[in-house]
Parts: sequence; C-alpha cells; structure tokens
Amino acid sequence: DPAATSQISHLALDIGGTLIKLVYFSANGDHCEDSRSNEISVVHGKLCFAKFETKKIDDCLEFIRFNILHHSGVQHQNGMAHDKLSVKATGGGAFKFADLFKEKLGILLDKEDEMCSLVGGVNFLLKTVPREAFTYLDGQKEFVEIDHNDLYPYLLVNIGSGVSMIKVDGDGKYERISGTSLGGGTFLGLGKLLTKCESFDELLELSHHGNNRVIDMLVGDIYGGTDYSKIGLSSTAIASSFGKAISDGKELEDYQPEDVARSLLRMISNNIGQIAYLNALRFGLKRILFGGFFIRGLEYTMDTISVAVHFWSRGEAKAMFLRHEGFLGALGAFTSYKT
Ligand code: ADP
Repeated sequence: DPAATSQISHLALDIGGTLIKLVYFSANGDHCEDSRSNEISVVHGKLCFAKFETKKIDDCLEFIRFNILHHSGVQHQNGMAHDKLSVKATGGGAFKFADLFKEKLGILLDKEDEMCSLVGGVNFLLKTVPREAFTYLDGQKEFVEIDHNDLYPYLLVNIGSGVSMIKVDGDGKYERISGTSLGGGTFLGLGKLLTKCESFDELLELSHHGNNRVIDMLVGDIYGGTDYSKIGLSSTAIASSFGKAISDGKELEDYQPEDVARSLLRMISNNIGQIAYLNALRFGLKRILFGGFFIRGLEYTMDTISVAVHFWSRGEAKAMFLRHEGFLGALGAFTSYKT
C-alpha cells in the first residue's frame, strides 16, 4: 500500500559494486560528515555527501540509523524497526541489499534505474550548481559554464568499478552506447595484486611517486630514441603498456610498486579516454563528461584522459570533469523525489 509508506525524502542511495554513495539533506549542515567541500547549498539547507565501501555495508547502516533516521525524528517504535519507510536507491546493491535494509533499518528501497539516475544527476548538476564542470589540460583547471539551452547532446562516461558510456540527448533522453570492463575496479583489483597495497588511496599515493617509463614500452624504446613522426607518434608515446616487463629479465619484486601503480593508472585512464573519444566520434559528439569515483579529482588521471581525448580528436572534442563526479547516481536518485 504505497499510501501508507512515508518517504524519507531527504536521503538517496547509490549502492555500487565497490562503494555506497549517500546524498542527504541537512537543514543546517550539521550532519554533513564527509567532505564538507562537497556540500551544495539549497533552499533551507544543504545537500551532504557520504561514501562507504560496499563490503562495509554495516557501517553505512549504522550511519543512516544514527545520523539520518535519528535526526529526522523517525524513531523506531518500541525498539522494532519501522517497516513503512521508503528511500530512493539506485545501483545493483539496491536489489542485492534490499532485504538487509528492510531487516536492519526497516527501510524499503524504492529502486531507480541506474542509467536514468546517472543522467539525472549530471543534468541536475549542470543546470543548478555553479562551477560544476571543468576542463583539465596542461596542469590548468578551467571551469566551464554550459549554456542550459545548449547542453545536449553530450557523452557521459561514468568510471566506476566498470565503465558506462551514455549518449545524452535531453532530460530523460539517453542511450547506453558503450562501456568497458576495464575500469576503476580493474585498477584497484590489479593494483592490489601487483603492489600489495591495501586501499585505493594507498594505490593513488604510490602512483603519484612512480614513473611509468620504467615498465611501459615507449615508441622511442622500439625506434631507438627517435620519433616515428611519419605516423604522428612521438618517442615518448606508450607503444605497449607494461611491455618492458617482457624482456627486462625482472621479477615483479624487482620493480618499484610506485612505478607499477603509475603504469596501471596510465593504462586504464588512456584506454578509457580513447574508447570515449571513439564513441564521441561515432555519434558526432563534441563534449565528453567524465564521472565516477575512479577520477577522484586526481590531476594525473584527468590529465591522461584529457590528453588522450585531445590527441585522438586532434583538439576537436573536449574532456570535461565534474566536481561531484562520484555522486552522480545518488544525486539523480535524490532529484527523482520531486517527480
Ligand atoms: P561503483 O558504483 O561501481 O561502486 P564508483 O563510481 O563508486 O563505482 O567507483 C568505484 C571505483 O572508484 C573503485 O573501483 C575505485 O577505482 C575508485 N575509488 C575511489 N575511491 C575509492 C575508495 N575510497 N575505496 C575504493 N575505491 C575507490
């Protein structure tokens, strides 16, 4: 009976393969736990953001219980879970963990389509949040104000555990045109195996101090240090990611984990940039927006993606990034309360 179900309209979830993302409303911003710089001011309060590893879903449930249910005046009756509350949720986990939310918090997950939420989130950000989109090239971050009447079409590339590429033609008008399984999950999974690091942040930190040329085979390595300019390749272009490991006579232990992490980040970012460009070309799209928690505002990642798009499109297509990159799906689910 939907009439008997009250919505907690100030919370939305995106439960992904790696991370759970929360967007919630706080009247005074007091309960914005995570990354205050992410807050978005709205009428009568603030939108706050939080994330948890999906494997630590119990921490997320506790967070919701103490910070959101408690402060919203929604109390459990006689210590029993209230079973008539619903919350907008997207991502695969909205299906996988539906029973858990019901059991532990008495919350019903009201499922929103994942692609629809991603697109809804991006459109919301571009239309309502100033200084949201920016380009990153040659170490320069430049904010781009996109004319609302000239927003579409664009290509949305969401780099989560896997990668989805969505052609967006309007509000609610979109098509998933491509994707790749070589995404953030691949970077983190392979990175953990190869460097023995424990977390994404550790892997990023390693990559920050590494040099990819130690392991990647460059054009110059093959051509003896000269450019292969006839086909437009400079001597420093990567001919084969990890290619030097074939003939270096080294074991994994002989490489610095920093260099391995750097090559891996470069390989994944480059590949996504190139596939994105090819899809933009396929549909004549000039604007490519990159989102997903893989990016994390990291300069090296954004630079690699931007250079790949710039290089392959000969400057025709533009890679853009979003300040709230990791919360697109959760924001889309949040905005769906209005409709
Ligand atoms: P999903 O919805 O599939 O979980 P996300 O957009 O949340 O996708 O992105 C997940 C990816 O983001 C991970 O695979 C990893 O590459 C990266 N990432 C960024 N920050 C973290 C973190 N703190 N813990 C784990 N992965 C992270």
